[in-house]
Formats: sequence, C-alpha cells, structure tokens
Amino acid sequence: MKPPNSLLAATGTTIFTVMSALAQQHGAINLGQGYPDTDGPEDVVEAAARFLKDGRNQYPPMSGVQELREAVAAANRRFYGLDVGPSDVVVTSGATEAITACLMALLDPGDEVVLIEPLYDTYLPVVRMLGAIPRLVRLNPPDWELPRKELAAAFSVRTKAILLNSPMNPTGKVFNIDELGFIARLVIENDTYAVCDEVYEHLVFGSARHVPLMSLPGMRERTLRIGSAGKTFSLTGWKVGYVTGCATLASVVAKAHQNLTFTTAPNLQRAVALGLAKDDAYFASLAESLEAKRDRLAVGLNRLGLPTLRAEGSYFVSADFSAHFDGDDVAFCRTITEQARVTAIPVSAFYERDPPRHYARFAFCKQDHVLDEALTRLGQFFGTRAT
Ligand code: PMP
Ligand code: GLN
Repeated sequence: MKPPNSLLAATGTTIFTVMSALAQQHGAINLGQGYPDTDGPEDVVEAAARFLKDGRNQYPPMSGVQELREAVAAANRRFYGLDVGPSDVVVTSGATEAITACLMALLDPGDEVVLIEPLYDTYLPVVRMLGAIPRLVRLNPPDWELPRKELAAAFSVRTKAILLNSPMNPTGKVFNIDELGFIARLVIENDTYAVCDEVYEHLVFGSARHVPLMSLPGMRERTLRIGSAGKTFSLTGWKVGYVTGCATLASVVAKAHQNLTFTTAPNLQRAVALGLAKDDAYFASLAESLEAKRDRLAVGLNRLGLPTLRAEGSYFVSADFSAHFDGDDVAFCRTITEQARVTAIPVSAFYERDPPRHYARFAFCKQDHVLDEALTRLGQFFGTRAT
C-alpha cells in the first residue's frame, strides 16, 4: 500500500495532549496545557446559550457573522487605534485555524518564512505542509533576547513572511516597541509580510504593553493579526479566532478559511461579539488576576529552589529545575507528573533542534488553591517546605 502523507505521518502527537494524558493517568495537577480551570464571564456564556435557541443555527456568512466582524474591528480601534472595518476581518475556528489560513493565504511552495524559536507547535508543520521553507532564528533562556543580527540575516529575497508571536508562548516575552520597530524595518526593507499571533494580547502584566506590529508605520497593509476568544474570555474550548488584515489580504485569508472549515459556530461568534464590547474593567481585571497568579506561582517555585524567568504576558512561566534534578526537561516533566503529581511542559518541545534542556513551562491560569496545592506537592517531592 502507498504510504499516507509523509509529513503528517512523521508528526508526533502534540506535547500538550501527551502531557495532559499523562497528568490524567497519574491524577496530577495539570499546569501543562494552557487552559483556565474556571469558565469565562457568565454573561458571555449565558448569551451563547440564549443564542442557541433563537433560530440562527444554520451556516453563518463565511467570513463571520456581521456582529463579530464589527466587534473585532471596533476592538482594533479601541485598544490600538487601528483603522479597521468589518471587511478587514475574517472569523476562524480558533487561532489555530487562523494561523494556518494566514500562512496558506501568503505562501507559495518554495517561499521562505522566518520563524522565531521557541515556537508554538503548529507553526513548523503547517509551513512545511505548504511546501514553504522555514528559516529559524532562536531566542535563548534566560533572557530570551532578540538576536538582531541573526534575525536580519534570516531575511532574503526569498522571504515571504515572518511569523511573530507576542506575547509569546512559552517564554511570556512581550516584544517591546524597539524590537517591533526593528522587525517592521526588516519586513518593509525586504518587501515581505508579517503574520502576528497575538492570542495573548490582553494577558500582559506590570508596565509591559502589547503593541501590535500592525500598528507600526508602513505595516497596516503587510500584517495579518490574529486574536483568540479562547484566551481573551477564558473559554479555550470555544475555538473562535479572528484575523485582521487589509481587505485585500483578508479576502485571500477568507479563501483559505473557505477550504478549511468554511464557517464557525454562529452562536459562539455572537457571544464573543458581546464579550469584545465589555468595558475596560473586564480587560484590566483579567490581566490583573493573571498577574497575581503568575506571582503566586513564581514566588512559590522560587522558594522551592526553581528560579523562574521573567514572564510579562501569556499563561506561562518557565523555571530552571537544574538545582533539583539531573536529567533533561522531558525526564523532569515526566517525573514530577508521576511522582509529585504536578504536570509541566518541557521547554525543549518548542525547539526544532539543540534545545535548552533544563527549563519547564508551568501554566498559572488556575485557581489559587490549585496553584497552592501544586506548590505543596512539589515542595514535598523536593523535600522542601512550600512556604
Ligand atoms: N497560538 C498560541 C501561541 C497559543 O498558545 C495558542 C494556544 N492555544 C494558539 C495559538 C491557539 O489558539 P486557539 O485555541 O484559539 O486555537
Ligand atoms: N496553547 C496551549 C498551550 O500552549 C495548548 C493548546 C493545545 O493543546 N493545542 O498550552
């Protein structure tokens, strides 16, 4: 028999699924896969339930229901001063589909794409499935500093796009305006595009600010910006994402979406539209609450002798476990899952090759008592007191 698609057949099961299954098997607290353990805002969830019953359950418009496209456009104007209208927006089934749709919209086989490691698990397989060529530039712990020379060298006449994730998973890095300016210059000088995975746009802490690359001079027409209701409303299972671009690019993204999922559940879309119109207090308290959770977990890990790295956004903080454990990060995450009954994700999973091997990524988007219990379990396992 002829073999199935070789790239997919060779792709392993995602680390998030592997570690969640292991967590479940051992009754571990799952600080691996990034999902909150409480529901998002009640009014949004109730609206979705109501919208299931008012007779709009057939295929919605392909690019998204008008309410949500208008709400995404309004949010772009409200939070970032971007001049966006509903025809610049395409609604997708989660940011995961949005990433694939944007890459499909921009790439021809043989085009080069600049990617920054550590990277989210779908980026590389999708780039390769499209026959495009990844050019990897790496950030290294503990500072995750942008290596500007290497980044500039990764661009060439063959470059079609850069894929930028800020706030970044797994590092928690929020690219600052200076770094964004440098990236924007490279994009413009090399006449390329940017796909910006900004799913954690509202989960930014302290004095850090999320600035969309799209808002920099000259970038409006060159950028596709991706958001996710899953992250913005703590409803990761809903899988409602949205792409903002100029109308010309957005129409090509819509063609990709047409061939991937075609549409996304209309009831959830309408509820997300209500969510995006929530007042500033909602967005501020979401970030504040996660910042407090980051601190709670980071302080606890530090006390246990696992120094954490700076994380200014996202759901995640990485910790150096080398003082406690001799093996690599895969062995560490497996061991703490099985023996301490706390699960984390090995940071090496986010690198293609030669990864750093003594960092684990912990998700802090959990209830306080769950974080405390995880720290207690780790403390007992390491033979240290948790407080
Ligand atoms: N990009 C990044 C960086 C992520 O961490 C996630 C997490 N789930 C996604 C995309 C996917 O988002 P969604 O659940 O909306 O598909
Ligand atoms: N984004 C989530 C994480 O990084 C996982 C999403 C998934 O399991 N695909 O943990």
